[in-house]
Amino acid sequence: MKRTRTSTLSFSESEDSDGSTRSSFKRHKYSEPDTESDDIGGFPIKVFVVQAKVSPEEISELISMVEKQKNMRMLELCSIPAEADVIVTGIQMKKRLERHIPWQLARRRAIVNPQWIRDSVEKEQIMPCGDYAALQELHAETAHNCPNPKGCDECRGTSGPDAEVAPSSLSHKARYACQRASPLVCANQSLAEEIDILRRARELEGDAVGTLAYERAVAVIKAYPHVISPSRLESDLARISGIGTKLQVKIAEYLKKGQISEAREILASPRFRSLSEFNTIYGIGPVTARQLYDNGMSTLEHLDSYYGIRAHNPAIEEQADPNIIESRWLSIKGMPEVTIQVGLALRRDLSQKIPREEVCDMHAIVMKGLESLQHGCVSTIVGGYRRGKEESNDVDIVISHQDWRGGGEKIKGLCTKLVKHLYDEGLVTHVMHLSSFRPHNALRTGHWDSLEKALTIFRLPEADGKSRIHRRLDLIFASPEAYWTAVTGWTGSRMFERDLRLWAKDEKGYKFDSTGITRRHDSRLFYPKSEQEVFEILGLEWVDPTLRNTGV
Ligand code: ATP
Ligand code: MG
Ligand code: MN
Repeated sequence: MKRTRTSTLSFSESEDSDGSTRSSFKRHKYSEPDTESDDIGGFPIKVFVVQAKVSPEEISELISMVEKQKNMRMLELCSIPAEADVIVTGIQMKKRLERHIPWQLARRRAIVNPQWIRDSVEKEQIMPCGDYAALQELHAETAHNCPNPKGCDECRGTSGPDAEVAPSSLSHKARYACQRASPLVCANQSLAEEIDILRRARELEGDAVGTLAYERAVAVIKAYPHVISPSRLESDLARISGIGTKLQVKIAEYLKKGQISEAREILASPRFRSLSEFNTIYGIGPVTARQLYDNGMSTLEHLDSYYGIRAHNPAIEEQADPNIIESRWLSIKGMPEVTIQVGLALRRDLSQKIPREEVCDMHAIVMKGLESLQHGCVSTIVGGYRRGKEESNDVDIVISHQDWRGGGEKIKGLCTKLVKHLYDEGLVTHVMHLSSFRPHNALRTGHWDSLEKALTIFRLPEADGKSRIHRRLDLIFASPEAYWTAVTGWTGSRMFERDLRLWAKDEKGYKFDSTGITRRHDSRLFYPKSEQEVFEILGLEWVDPTLRNTGV
């Protein structure tokens, strides 16, 4: 979540300060595979092919090899990594594999190189996966998790349980993203990531229509359950709304070359690189990023001089808005506010991803502080963490009180109290935003917030004399009757939320947002007592949080 401080920036017309020319850019629970159910001895073995690092030709070859032995029903391709017994990849590094398969999942599967398919098909028997381990680091797990043709239960990995995902009847062809199953890593993940570059470019350039169109396209791909081939593209994918002619051409290009040339041009564009980099700074949105770039800045060091050590760059000092200097001293209820300067100063910390264990540590310490102020609060970690992401950019926690009747009163004002408490303890270091309580209102339009909310920067206490990394922490306080809508509204992803609101409004005549559900014609308010009930009221099939990953 970023906020743009455009109001504090004012620029006069200027040339590039460095005189350089710039090229512009155009724009289930992971349900355990049901190995025993219908096939004696665990056949066919389900295979997922990670497309990155395998050439399109090699992919076609592998697919046709698997097709070749179809009658033997030894191997079968599947499109969701979590449902596979064996994952085939050309990747050899943990860091790279993690972009496509959650590590937790990788450790519970056999991760082999493409040769395993060739040899197994040729020899008409399942080759020992350990001999084909793609990652040395996972050799033991790969050998251990190799599906035993005799179908023995002990062959499965033994790590902890995954979250519960009931098999669903969701259709990938449904119009709204909130009716589809969108896994964290999808069957066409690399393609989705390539298209997302096109979306990012539009977003940074302020092209709202283009951004939305590409975001929709990414969401459709994320829910598409089959590996896309040229024939599937034509006969199936092209018929899904959201995949127009222009995009079909780009997908066809990707299937042929393994990349989309426009995406490569974007990545190589100095303008895109600078805008992207600027936009990683907390407090700098696309508008500010463009203003800064258009005024001659292209690196974060330029921004350092502009926002900080002005004397070193007299050329831009003249344009400086005194408000920016002032903002350094701004505070929210006596606590330092997150300004662009703070975002710049802490960028090395804030750009680092947060592993799940640390998310849990942060949650535990926040809840301990809260308990000392108010007994009986309840909470859910939402955002990307709840959707199953291995690493998050921030931590989002929705908080309420267990007392359904009197809880609302107990929650009121608690957000500010908690943030002050955490600040006094040295845990919260900066505050970006603190908002107060407004009740849900059916007539209200536009973007209002009626929950108590604090967007903060947080740092765990020192461990072994070493200071910890600054992290972004968002706290959302909801009265008990708004708790489950807040949990739903803050779990994301963005397109899922967008379509949830659209579905409610256009198909059901309800207004949905994080603060509640209202039926429009009689303004009746609904108070769901679980997240399942949120879906029921809105007339939607249940979608597990791990299947709400509509973005890459
Ligand atoms: P990550 O934090 O790892 O980047 P995320 O999905 O958690 O991924 P966030 O920006 O933390 O991303 O947002 C979490 C969810 O909270 C979003 O999907 C969005 O629906 C919701 N959200 C974020 N900011 C607001 C806001 N100001 N008002 C209402 N909802 C918001
Ligand atoms: Mg988040
Ligand atoms: Mn957040």
